[in-house]
Amino acid sequence: MNSKLTSKNVPKMGITRKDPIFTDEDRIAEAQRQAACICARPKTTIHCLRCGNLSFGRKFRTCSTHPNIVYLYDLRTCAVCLGPAKDMEELPIDFETYQKLTRVGAPHSTR
Ligand SMILES: [Zn+2]
Ligand SMILES: [Zn+2]
Repeated sequence: MNSKLTSKNVPKMGITRKDPIFTDEDRIAEAQRQAACICARPKTTIHCLRCGNLSFGRKFRTCSTHPNIVYLYDLRTCAVCLGPAKDMEELPIDFETYQKLTRVGAPHSTR
């Protein structure tokens, strides 16, 4: 095991009983589990790699911390070409920029 994080004063050997108190290692593991939780992730701009459509929302993903929780509004398919979520990429673009992109950024605007 990698002892980098627990190098100080946690004796590995000699624990004979099940201690209900979290060790440092348990706490770190729990913190990492919570940090891996994506349930509360913000909406972002979703870019479809198939058709190039931009939409704003959350790409469907299973939370590794809460694998049984499903959010109905998460995007499972592209609204335009119905491509799967694996063909959609999440861009770090906020709603304001997304609106600008979809309003002005159309490559073939007719006028
Ligand atoms: Zn979660
Ligand atoms: Zn698409």
